[in-house]
Amino acid sequence: MEALTGGALYQNTMKIVEDAGKLVSLSPNVLERLKLPRRTLVVSVPVKMDDGRVKVFTGYRVQHNQTLGPFKGGIRYHQQVDLSEVAALAALMTFKNSLMNLPLGGAKGGVQVDPNKLSKAELESLTRRFTSEISPFIGPDKDIPAPDVGTDSQTMAWMLDTFSLESGFSQTGVVTGKPIEIGGSLGREAATGLGVIYATEKALEKLNKRLSDATLAIQGFGKVGMFAAIEGYAKGARVVAVSDVSGALYNERGLNIAELSRFVKEKKVIKDFPDAQAITNEELLLLSVDVLAPCALEGVIHAGNAKKVKAKIIVEGANGPTTRDADEILDGLGCMVVPDILANGGGVVVSYFEWVQDISWLFWTEDEVRNKLREVIYKSFDKVWAMSETSKVNMRTGAMATSLLRLERAMKLRGQAW
Ligand code: GLU
Repeated sequence: MEALTGGALYQNTMKIVEDAGKLVSLSPNVLERLKLPRRTLVVSVPVKMDDGRVKVFTGYRVQHNQTLGPFKGGIRYHQQVDLSEVAALAALMTFKNSLMNLPLGGAKGGVQVDPNKLSKAELESLTRRFTSEISPFIGPDKDIPAPDVGTDSQTMAWMLDTFSLESGFSQTGVVTGKPIEIGGSLGREAATGLGVIYATEKALEKLNKRLSDATLAIQGFGKVGMFAAIEGYAKGARVVAVSDVSGALYNERGLNIAELSRFVKEKKVIKDFPDAQAITNEELLLLSVDVLAPCALEGVIHAGNAKKVKAKIIVEGANGPTTRDADEILDGLGCMVVPDILANGGGVVVSYFEWVQDISWLFWTEDEVRNKLREVIYKSFDKVWAMSETSKVNMRTGAMATSLLRLERAMKLRGQAW
C-alpha cells in the first residue's frame, strides 16, 4: 500500500480532501471510499529498441472513481512516473471532473520513460503495447485516456488505432485529444491553456484588474503553458517570462509570444530566443508579477521558496504544483491561489466535448467549443469563489469542498456510501 499512497502528491491530495471534507461535514463513509482508487493496474511494456535489444518499461492505469460516469484522465510519459504519482493524479481527475460538472469519473495512466530518449518508432511500439495491455479496462463507455505530460495527439492516434484493431472496428471515442482528422475536436489542443487564461481573467477581476493591464510569468512552454501564453498575449497581457527544460526568458516590456512560438516550432526549445534576458527557472517563480502560472510538473512551489513568491495570484496550469506547506505560507502572504482542479480543468472539459462529438457524430466549430469552455470555467470559478467566501477558506479548500459535495450526493443516490 505504501507504494500507492506514500508519495508526496498522494499525501498532499488526501490532506486537502480531509480538510475540505471537514469543512462540509462530509460523510466519513464517502471519505473512506475516496481515499483509495477503485482499481489499479500495473503492466510490463516490452519494447524492441532500434538496436535490437528488448527493454521492459513499467506502465500504470489507475481508476480512481466512476460514480459520476466513465473513468477519464490522461496518460503521462515521464522518467519520474510511479504508482503513487499516477494514483494521486487519478484522484485529482475525479475531483476536477466533479468540479467541472462533467458526467465523468477520474483515472490516470503513465509509463516510466523519458520519451525524448526514444525514437518515433520506439515510441509507437511502446504506446501500442501499453494500450494493448490496458485494453480490457478502457473503452468509450468505460475509461477514456487523453494526453498529459510527454504525450500528444500522435500518442492518442496510436492508442485509438491499437484499440480499434483489437475490437475489429473503429472506436474513435476511446481516447480524446486526438488529431482532428480522426475525430478530434477543434480547440482541444489549446484548451488547457485557454482555461488557464479564463480562470486568470476571473481572478484578476477580484483584484479589480484586467488581463490587458496585467503581467504574467509562465513556467513551462509546452501543451499548457504555450497556449496560455499565446492567449494571454493575444488578449493584451504582458507575458514577461516563460520557461522550459532549456531555461527561462525574461523581458520586462513583455515577450513577443507570437515570435517565440514560431521560434520554438523550429528550434524545439526557447533557449537563445533574441530580445530576452536568460534567467533561471527558480528566478521565474519568484518574479514580481500579477500572475504566476506554473504549467509543468508538481511540487515546484514548496516550503523552501514560497516565502519569496511575489506574484499576487498563482494560477495552477499544472497538477499539484504547490505543496501543502507552501499553501499555508502563500495564504499568509495574501497570495490568491487558483487551484489546479479549477485552473487546468479546460483540458478535460474540451475532452468531454470531443467525446460527445465523437459519440454523436456531429462536430462543432472552434467558436462553439471556446464559448462553451469559457462558460464552464467562469461558472466553476464563481461556485468556488462563493464557497470560499462564505466558508472563509482559500480557493483550494473551496474548490475541493464544492467537488466533494457533488460526489457525495451522487454516491448517496447510487447507494455507494451508506
Ligand atoms: N491530462 C489532462 C488533465 O490532467 C487532461 C485529461 C483529459 O482530458 O482526460 O486534466
